[in-house]
Amino acid sequence: MFPFRGVDYLEIDSLWSDEEKLVRRTVRDFVDREVLPHVEAWNREAHFPAHLVPVMAELGFFGANLRGYGCAGMNNVQYGLMMQELERGDSALRSFVSVQGALVMYPIYEYGSEAQKQRWLPALQQGRAIGCFGLTEPDFGSNPAGMRTRAVKDGGEYVLTGEKAWITSGSIADVALVWARADDGIRGFLVEKGLPGFAARDIKGKWSLRASVTSILSLQEVRVGAEAMLPRVRGLRGPLSCLTQARYGIGWGAIGAAMACYHEALEYAKARKQFDDRPIASHQLIQEKLADMITEITKAQLLAHHVGRLKDSGRADFAHVSMLKRNNVRMALEVARAARDMLGANGVADEYPIFRHLCNLESVSTYEGTHNIHTLIIGERVTGIAAYR
Ligand SMILES: Cc1cc2nc3c(=O)[nH]c(=O)nc-3n(C[C@H](O)[C@H](O)[C@H](O)COP(=O)(O)OP(=O)(O)OC[C@H]3O[C@@H](n4cnc5c(N)ncnc54)[C@H](O)[C@@H]3O)c2cc1C
Repeated sequence: MFPFRGVDYLEIDSLWSDEEKLVRRTVRDFVDREVLPHVEAWNREAHFPAHLVPVMAELGFFGANLRGYGCAGMNNVQYGLMMQELERGDSALRSFVSVQGALVMYPIYEYGSEAQKQRWLPALQQGRAIGCFGLTEPDFGSNPAGMRTRAVKDGGEYVLTGEKAWITSGSIADVALVWARADDGIRGFLVEKGLPGFAARDIKGKWSLRASVTSILSLQEVRVGAEAMLPRVRGLRGPLSCLTQARYGIGWGAIGAAMACYHEALEYAKARKQFDDRPIASHQLIQEKLADMITEITKAQLLAHHVGRLKDSGRADFAHVSMLKRNNVRMALEVARAARDMLGANGVADEYPIFRHLCNLESVSTYEGTHNIHTLIIGERVTGIAAYR
């Protein structure tokens, strides 16, 4: 491991305010101190570092771009830089923060009753409660509109039945936001841990996001009061709007993973000698890789910056965010693959962070809309023709 000093080819730092740089510094220090010395062990043991939840809460990471209820009220660039730095540590940690903030706190904040907000937002912000987001089902991933999970009204209650798959933080969550088909369309329900008929079991054997908990949620006639339903949203618009929030953070996070891989590969190439005692960095083929990597990272930084400023002025929409997520995650995967190659055999060892990032990014490319799905969203935006079917 070589000390990280940031990746800035094009004076990108001049785009950030002092407050934005302060957030980046704070999160970078947290990752250097609390994450990097231990992350390979967590990854090897498939261990989620739950002890960091109160630390991250104290630093204001959860729901950081929301206002009130104890949230940090960051602008979207500060929030993005926070996600970038977290994912420089590990995508699992960034995923946890994304789910807690963008997929659980945001919908409660945006669509919840005041009682739901008072009950959950301070607890989630302070890390006293953990949330998860149940949209995907075993047979419905890219097409959540087909979901089979039902919510049947029975007097003043709803009865939920169905299964949700691949749910981040599922088994450690105190509350699951479960999306289900009700009589009047798709609705979101806040389902508390321990309710009769509600169970979570973990998916074992992942080669990716190993430091993250991923679970299957099973709902067998789970009864919740009508007050558990988010009252202010109906239809697929609800979960999709949450995904737009989370995808925005992923678009930044991927830059962090790419920076970590680029930095490691560059330092390695300067130190590693082959053929006549020359560093491999002196070879043109290696320099071409580095030139491609830094160029793509720089383009991704500019894209994230622009979408962040658009979002702060209320002009970023879901198709803008699709371009950010699709481009930056693909970029990070390609940077990670090139970096892995540059380390030779060491590139597959967990003494170095690259293979871990590479494996993590495979999930990041799949979740929150696969690369293909974002291609189709952009395709629909530019042609006006939906090509999903
Ligand atoms: C580690 C991890 C954590 C996750 N966390 C969560 C979570 O917290 N909550 C949650 O709800 N979900 C979560 N997911 C699920 C994730 O969102 C889904 O895996 C994703 O939406 C893709 O669905 P799928 O796996 O069913 O793939 P599928 O939809 O079956 O897709 C398989 C392949 O077909 C392609 N494809 C599908 N439809 C089309 C089309 N129309 N045109 C072209 N290609 C197409 C896809 O791009 C993909 O390449 C997580 C997944 C992972 C891996």
